Amino acid sequence: MTYQINQTHDPNLKSWVESANDPNTDFPIQNLPFCMFRLIGGKDEGEQIGVRIGNLILNVEGVSKGVQAEPPLALAWDNVKVSYFVTDLGLLLNATGNEDRQRIRQFLVSLLRQDTSDNVRQIVSEYLIPISETNLTSPFEVGDYTDFYCSIFHATNVGSMFRPDQPLMPNYKYVPIGYHGRASSIVVSGTDIKRPRGQNRSDAEKPPVFIPAKNLDYEMELGFFVGKGNELGQPINIKDAEEHIFGMCLVNDWSARDIQAWEYQPLGPFLAKNFATTISPFVVTMEALAPFRTPAFERDPDDPQPLDYLSDENNKKFGGLDINLEVYIQTEKMRNENIEPFRISRSNTKDLYWTVGQMLTHHASNGCNLQTGDLIASGTVSGPDKSERGCLLEMTWRGTEPIELPSGETRRFLEDGDEVIMKGYCEREGFRRIGFGECRGRIIPAE
Ligand code: CA
Repeated sequence: MTYQINQTHDPNLKSWVESANDPNTDFPIQNLPFCMFRLIGGKDEGEQIGVRIGNLILNVEGVSKGVQAEPPLALAWDNVKVSYFVTDLGLLLNATGNEDRQRIRQFLVSLLRQDTSDNVRQIVSEYLIPISETNLTSPFEVGDYTDFYCSIFHATNVGSMFRPDQPLMPNYKYVPIGYHGRASSIVVSGTDIKRPRGQNRSDAEKPPVFIPAKNLDYEMELGFFVGKGNELGQPINIKDAEEHIFGMCLVNDWSARDIQAWEYQPLGPFLAKNFATTISPFVVTMEALAPFRTPAFERDPDDPQPLDYLSDENNKKFGGLDINLEVYIQTEKMRNENIEPFRISRSNTKDLYWTVGQMLTHHASNGCNLQTGDLIASGTVSGPDKSERGCLLEMTWRGTEPIELPSGETRRFLEDGDEVIMKGYCEREGFRRIGFGECRGRIIPAE
């Protein structure tokens, strides 16, 4: 059960890595997200699998070999019963179920907790690397990427701009709406985003023109990675859905609204979306998120209940997630004048109409095979309040209500030099705060 809370979630648990005990860190010992990294300088040993703790990265492959060589630790290692801590996160996940992942989590906690032996501490410290000496790469080789549209507030807002008489399509409350995205253009946080060119037909009297996109936007989304896949033709039962989810990251689904408006009919988004998608580098596991589960979205009494294949008692009780999502912007002028990034919105994944379990189950319900490392995103996470709108299209109401920045500038959509910074974190009384780190990208001009 991924909702299970155990001693690894104890809020009093501290680490001997001091930076992990900072109350403001995203990465206390209760989190321990996975990542892939390369060493900066020194000898490049290629991409390696790591775990973030405080301001450090634990080299997981290294430490697993290190502890196996030490008799007092070999026993603990044996307990983990995972002899294949490998260099590829995808391989690791494919080979492990949730129980194995629980054991890995317990094992990592046993290495890093404050009251561990000096011997362990000494061995483990050899495999800790300051974050500043690493380059974080994409955690997975993403094979397929799917983007849903699960915020009813986002769907209603966007729908009402284009179809005021019928904002929400009649299928919305029955079908988790999604489309197949493009995996090849997924980039990790910190990668510059080049403004795309495309067909623009803002003047309905004239033929379209091929120009750099004018209405460039971000979309604040939650993403999750498939751990164990399913065979082609074998659907996934909603009861088992979360067994197939390894963990989560932040996603920015960059969107060119002017290209989108002209191309989307009748088959949906294409070049408006596939020029880049940014993900945060840390995969927060479902085990780490256990204390932050919420009931699934409470449907209006007049709304239909989900069809049977999307219904499950546990999913209804615990299928939601309480993750705060924030979007910040820093323009070039703000950077030059040392003005801190400005927060545009704050929303929460508990407002999603469909749960991650329902997204995954629906995706595989026709027998479509999901594979280890597939990325599935929620769609823009917006809430009922104006301050909770997760993209500029909604926030500026199609550009008609520009936002004002502390530099005196205004924005309808993104300008060259703007950097978008997304953050995610979980807070709940009685538990340690954990976070996702950042998902950033800066807009550079079209060529
Ligand atoms: Ca999207």
